[in-house]
Order: sequence, then C-alpha cells, then structure tokens
Amino acid sequence: MSTTDVLDMTIDGVRGIGAKRAAVLNEAGIFTLADLFWYRPRRYLDRTRTVPIARAPVGEEVTLVGRVRGMNFVPGRRPRFVLVLEDESDDISCTWFSGGRYMQKNFTEGDELAISGKVDLFQGRRQMVHPEYEFITPAGEAGLLHTGGVVPLYTSSADMKERGLRSRGFRRLMRGALDEFVEQVADGLPAEIRTRQQLMPLVQALRTIHFPASIMEAENARRRLAFDELFYLQLRLARLRARRRERPEGIAMAQSQELVPQLLRELPFALTAAQERVVNEIVADMGLPHVMNRLVQGDVGSGKTLVGLCALLTAVENGFQAALMAPTEILAEQHFLNIKSLVQPLGLQVILLKGKQRVSVRRQLQEALSSGSAHIAVGTHALIQTEVEFARLGLVVIDEQHRFGVMQRGALYKKGEKPDMLVMTATPIPRTLAQTLYGDLEVSLIDELPPGRKPIRTARRGVDRREAIFDFAADQMRQGRQVYIVYPLVEESEKMDLTSAVEACQELSHGPFAEFEVGLLHGRMSAEEKVEVMEAFKAHRMDALVSTTVIEVGVDVPNASVMIVEHAERFGLAQLHQLRGRVGRGGEQSFCILISHQQGVGEGTDSGERLDAMVETQDGFIIAEKDLEIRGPGEFFGTRQAGIPEFKVADVLRDEPLLRAAREEADRQVEIEA
Ligand code: ADP
Ligand code: MG
Repeated sequence: MSTTDVLDMTIDGVRGIGAKRAAVLNEAGIFTLADLFWYRPRRYLDRTRTVPIARAPVGEEVTLVGRVRGMNFVPGRRPRFVLVLEDESDDISCTWFSGGRYMQKNFTEGDELAISGKVDLFQGRRQMVHPEYEFITPAGEAGLLHTGGVVPLYTSSADMKERGLRSRGFRRLMRGALDEFVEQVADGLPAEIRTRQQLMPLVQALRTIHFPASIMEAENARRRLAFDELFYLQLRLARLRARRRERPEGIAMAQSQELVPQLLRELPFALTAAQERVVNEIVADMGLPHVMNRLVQGDVGSGKTLVGLCALLTAVENGFQAALMAPTEILAEQHFLNIKSLVQPLGLQVILLKGKQRVSVRRQLQEALSSGSAHIAVGTHALIQTEVEFARLGLVVIDEQHRFGVMQRGALYKKGEKPDMLVMTATPIPRTLAQTLYGDLEVSLIDELPPGRKPIRTARRGVDRREAIFDFAADQMRQGRQVYIVYPLVEESEKMDLTSAVEACQELSHGPFAEFEVGLLHGRMSAEEKVEVMEAFKAHRMDALVSTTVIEVGVDVPNASVMIVEHAERFGLAQLHQLRGRVGRGGEQSFCILISHQQGVGEGTDSGERLDAMVETQDGFIIAEKDLEIRGPGEFFGTRQAGIPEFKVADVLRDEPLLRAAREEADRQVEIEA
C-alpha cells in the first residue's frame, strides 16, 4: 500500500476489526483509517492526578478509579441503584435515583470504572450521587489501577456501548491500528513550517493524541492536528486570492480626483482615521486590474455607509455605474435619501429600486439604468431581478451582507462585466470565523467609532419597572430626544402571548406618552407606509417609534437616544446588539433598556447570559464571540451561513492565534509557489 492512500483504507482492513465491529464504527462516522486516527478522545483521565478513594476530599469534584465490588437496587418510595466501587484504600458508594433496575445491566462485578463527581458523606461513608462514569477495563482483565499515566476516554455513543465497544475496547483497537499503520502516514506539512511553528511531526501527533504521556503532551499533539486543519483551509483560500490577483480580467480604476474630495469637503465632519485607511485600501484594490472581492467589517455606527459611498463615487468617476444593495426597504430608502442629498450637488443621478413600485415608475428607472443615465442605483433585492440591466456596472456594494445569501450576491455581480465587489457587515461574526468563512476575501476593518460617541448606558430590568422606564423615556423626549420601543415580531399565524406593538402603541399614546407624537412601524405595513413613518421619525415629526424588529439593521437617526427593548429575553444577542446600535449615533448620552418579561431570566439560562453580555460590553466582536459561545457554531450560523467548514480538532473560538499563524504560513507558501 502506498503511503498516500493508507489513510483512505477502510477500517475493516485493520487487524481485529471484523464486519460487526466495522458496522458499529461506521455508525459513529468512522469509515477510513483517517476517520479512526482523527477520532479524538473526549477527555483524558490523568492517573497521576487521581487520588485513592480513602483520600478523596469530601465536598469536592474528583475523579476516582476503582473496581465494582457490588450492586444493589433498593426499591421503595425513592427507588435507587447503588454501586460500590473499591480500590486498595477504601470504597465508595455511587447512587442513582434514576434508571432503576436497568442500571444494573450496565455493569459487571469486577469492571474497572472511573467516576467523576462530588464526594459527599452519607451516614459517615463516602458516596457520590449521579457520578459520571466511564469504563476503563472490563472484569477479569488486568486494569490500570496500578499504572500512572494518562488514559484516553473516547466518546462512545450509546450504540457503541451496547455493542460492547466501550472505551477499553476502543483503546485497544486504536492502539493496534496505530501500531500497524501510523508509520505509513505521510506528513504533508513542509518541514520549515513545522519547525517555525514548533509543531510535532504528524505521526507523533497521531500517536500522542491517543496515548499521551501527559496532558500537556496531548495538548501539543492537538495543536499540531488543529494547525493542519487550519493551514490547509487557509492555503486553499490563499491560492484563490492569489489566482484572482493574477488574472487581470477585472477593471482597473483610477483614484477619484473630484467626486470623493468634493464629497469629503461637503461633509460636516472629517473621516475617522479608520474610515480613511479603509477607503484607501478599497481604492488601491479597485485600482488593480483584478476583480476586487473585499469585506468591510465595522461595528454598528462605525460609519460604513460613507466608506461605501466613497467606493461608489470612485467607480462613477471612472465612467461606470455603481450599485448599493441593502437587505430591507427601510434601509434601502434611508441609503437612497442620504446618498441623494450628498451626491446630487455633485451632479449625479441616483435612483431607488425596490419591491412594490408602479410599473410605469419601474420602467422609467430600468430605462435610466440600461441607458446609463443613472449613475448610482440603490435598492433591495429588486436590483437583481432579471429585467434590471445596467449599461456598465463597475462596482457592487452590499450592505449588511450577512443578510443575503451567496446566490443573491452572485446575481448582482452578474449584472456587470466583472464588477468589483465590496461587502459590508457589522461583524456579527467573530474574527476567527471571518477569516475562515471569508478567507477568500480581502478584509478591511473599521476599528474605530466617530469621535464624541458616548458609551451607551445599558441596563436590564424586570417588567415591574416598566412604568418608571417609560417615565424616564418621557423625560428624555421632553429634552428633545427621540425614543424607540421595540417588540418581538408579530406573527400572524401564531397567537403569541406577547403584548403586540400595536397594542403597546395604543397604550403608550393614551398613557405615559400622551403629550408626544407616537408612531408605529411593523412588518405587515406596506412598504410606502413604513417609509413614511420612518421619514416622519427621522424629521422629528414623531418623538417615539414603537416598532417590531424591522428597524434592526442600518437605521440611522442620530437624535434618537433611548432604545427600549420589550421581551428582551426573546431576542438573540446579535439582534440585541444591532438594536442597541440604533442609538448612540449622535453626541447625546444614549440609553438602552432591556426589559425581560419572563420570570427567572437569570443566572445560567441562555437568555440571562445574553442580557448580561449586553450590559457588560458594547464591543461587537466580543458580543459575537459570546453569541457563538452560547449557541455553538451550528446554531450560530444556522441556515444563514451554509458552507462553514467543520473542524474535527481546531476550535474556532480558542484557536485564534493558531489560525493567524496558519494564515501567515499559507500566504508565505503561496508566495513560494508563485
Ligand atoms: P454603520 O457602520 O452602522 O452603517 P453609519 O454609516 O450608518 O454606520 O453611520 C453612523 C452615523 O455616524 C451616521 O449618522 C453617520 O453620518 C455618522 N458618521 C459617519 N462617519 C462619521 C465621522 N467620521 N464623524 C462623525 N460622524 C460620522
Ligand atoms: Mg450601516
């Protein structure tokens, strides 16, 4: 067998694995030798750190190893199963109040077990209630009781357990397979990289991850295997980037000499250093003859719109049309009005394309695009409908890109002749993942907020404080500020027991907000109605806006300084962060008040953790990381981000330094290849 394909060998080729065992392993997702070698121990039992039963400290969490001396099922009002475990020093009883008689079937007298849990005293004797347990050695075999060292404990699915493939059997099988084949595994990682990154050889890492001499050695092995995963992914992405740079099939655009400088002169403020740096990065990239594929990350309120606008103007000055796509009509409308007021003085024509426009209007707008008379098109996904044609689309900017699918992004790209692409996001994705997910994009980071922004004071409150909160909001409005009150979405199909935004609006405008103009915005209003309300609020013809989450992304009303979120426990963390980002956009002190209506949204619950995270930090990166931690990658990305790579060893949260190293090495490698 050649060294390259030994890892592809199916496991039935391993001595000791027959058809029956192979079937069990297959069910656990292990088909090839690679699957087997990369099947990591769930944890390690460090025998150098376990204590004799007699010395197990009462009241503390410990792991103990012993043999099953006896078992007993005690029926009665509170039936329980008791198992006595002994070593040379003493014994301890393990008690389960669940599982009943059937627990007995799991064990045989003489089995060697590791148990983990808290040691109590019960009638003067040591006991553990509901310990976690793991089989070490079956009855009748020489065990580990007398060995020091580290024992790998594998996840064995219930099925594997049932069919007799417990940790012990698995360890033996792994040992055999390693002894037989691991030396044939080729280490594809260039030796210089291994040396530079102080990584152990692959063969050694595979042996060590399963049979380490110490926990530290196991971690070193894990580090090597994690690096491989990250490195090969980064290498693929780096090659993609390099290929794109080499192929001069895009458009090379010159730096704007008129439009952008003119825009910047008109602005009442200067760009932040971060905005300026990012604009320069974009312009330099647009200046190259390849297709730009760049991601701008910047927290809510960091001023991404202007950065995008500078790119749009650069394209226009080069004789191209440019398009800006936003995920909601409200946002598209806002961008449109904002951009129009800024660029009309420059003599440019901006149009807005959205869902429900009259056919005659629509035709006129499409004509403006296909004839080339319109310079900038702002819109929702109405922009990507088949009838929409551009005369010469040179740049596509996508705002809040995480709201769009990959397909939609691609569709807009296809409206042009290899236009440059700029996607913008308020980083709902941790840095590590951005690198992984968007590794084929160049990344620009706006890591600074405009000056004079005061931190938003954030508080979580129970529903009992509602009255006081609305009094506070009224007080803010008397001082000339504006207020958002946000409710979870009203679903027509579901009868939710929530105070709907509609009712709340009634209640507020007749009660605590009687002296103010209160507006209402929700998903079931028509697009025109929504836009009308938004415009009224923006122009301060309205003091308070009661809304469902339709305002979540992008909305920019700098005079609004209070964000009240009702049923805050129902919102996701990224959503709460986005909502809070609607305030704190002007110079005034802003407030975000999260009202939870659920009793006991407290310690230890996900929603409690989310609200705590909101109070603790305003940093979008930290929030995103926290969010990922609470939900786990699967749910965090959900259907939104298909194609997230699954790592077997690397941990996207903890392995950030390793990821950075892998990316650097990948870039270096691609340079060598070139
Ligand atoms: P986001 O990054 O969330 O899309 P926006 O582009 O909506 O942020 O900008 C937020 C607010 O900050 C807007 O009101 C915008 O006019 C303002 N702004 C943007 N850049 C600056 C700057 N350099 N100085 C002051 N205010 C700015
Ligand atoms: Mg924005």
